[in-house]
Amino acid sequence: MTNITRLIRCCGCETKVEARLTDGREIYPHRPDLHAQPFWKCDRCGNYVGCHWKTKNPTEPLGNIPTPELRNARKHIHAILDPLWQSKRYGRKELYGMISDHMGFGYHTAQIRTVEEARKVWVFVRELGRK
Ligand SMILES: [Zn+2]
Repeated sequence: MTNITRLIRCCGCETKVEARLTDGREIYPHRPDLHAQPFWKCDRCGNYVGCHWKTKNPTEPLGNIPTPELRNARKHIHAILDPLWQSKRYGRKELYGMISDHMGFGYHTAQIRTVEEARKVWVFVRELGRK
């Protein structure tokens, strides 16, 4: 645990919050394999976000801080979205460009703010998968 904080958008608080840098010992006490990984936690609502911990900026947050509901919704999106570009059916950039056009903003799954947004993306990628 540290006293390092950073302004990150928290979906639970619906605003930017002073998130606190911590690690997997606090977030996932029963997952020793995650204990060394950094996380940013919102102490107002208790939600958290992981980091690009395998990169040069290991404490760079993956995106905003999701609620458990949003975290789950993102998983469902990735389950459909990732095979679409991994199978080379679409280029990854092409695919994210199509979703961005559909959503009206530069799309990244880790930046989804609301369950409504997540639902809209999910419906769109599901349709792409059916074509
Ligand atoms: Zn919060």
